[in-house]
Amino acid sequence: MILFCEDQAPPGVKFLGWFHFQETNFEKGLSVIETKQGLLAQGAPLNQPASVQLLLFADVFLRTPFSGEHIQQLKKSCVALFGVGSIGSAIAKSLVRAGVENILLIDPDRLSLTNVFRHECSMLDVGRYKVTALAQSLLQINPQLSLKTMAENIFQWPSAQLENLLENVSVVIDSTDRPSARLTTASLGYELHKPVVHAGCFEEGRGGEVFWHIPDVKEPCYWCLREGMAQPPKSRTIDYSTAQGPDDFKGEPGLDAVTKSIAMAAVQISLALLLRGMPDCQLSLVLTTQSNYLLLGNAFSNNFYRFKGPFHTFFQPFNGPRKSCSLCQKTTH
Ligand SMILES: [Zn+2]
Repeated sequence: MILFCEDQAPPGVKFLGWFHFQETNFEKGLSVIETKQGLLAQGAPLNQPASVQLLLFADVFLRTPFSGEHIQQLKKSCVALFGVGSIGSAIAKSLVRAGVENILLIDPDRLSLTNVFRHECSMLDVGRYKVTALAQSLLQINPQLSLKTMAENIFQWPSAQLENLLENVSVVIDSTDRPSARLTTASLGYELHKPVVHAGCFEEGRGGEVFWHIPDVKEPCYWCLREGMAQPPKSRTIDYSTAQGPDDFKGEPGLDAVTKSIAMAAVQISLALLLRGMPDCQLSLVLTTQSNYLLLGNAFSNNFYRFKGPFHTFFQPFNGPRKSCSLCQKTTH
């Protein structure tokens, strides 16, 4: 997406329509934009920033390492994102930059001040629904997006309604932060035969995990993981958002960087799932590993949980599906 002042559109650029930005979202001037065709536009002061002409340069996403065929696949794919907090919002932005154009954003929460330091939205969005603020931000990356926002707890919906909502969804991404919501999302994906990617950050930012499950593939499901493997230790019971002082919660420096690293791994796994089965897709190779559970270490991870040192990142092997699993083996009981 490239924005130009009304009288500065270079030749060969397609005009799509009008798009309105809030003046506060805009700096005066535009960056120099370089494409395969060369320099397209130079920064120019915007005298009327609230109403600028929007033009799309068709090749904008071909700067990615994907072939055109892969890009077309991503454009028509639909992703449902459960939870658009720090990890979910970062996932959404990266998916858009990869060329995904149909996204369902689900989160009942509003952005609070304590979210801003690690969320993709800003101080200007505090008090707004996260899905609404994020959708606006995503449209500024690619105005051609087809976004649907759900600022409610859809887990309370009847199953038929949920099935209808997710009918055209290719991949479900779970970046919720409550264990019960994560299990429910896993169940939903399993029942509806949708691939699900779970992305989560461990306590104190001492690492994270990305787990995925592909329908009809004989591999452990998310319930197998949670029922069958010891979880990282929890040292605190007080949440940062309810802390009354420094004795309650000391905070984690650089938590934004921690959540981003987990989000970016989840994005690559999600893209691999969207492109699986297509020829010449290097990304899909990640799905052929022996484990569908990736543990991501960072600078805080030394001797925590299963990490053997800082930045220790590995596929955690585990056997399954578990015979006693409450989800994937329940029909046999
Ligand atoms: Zn299972």
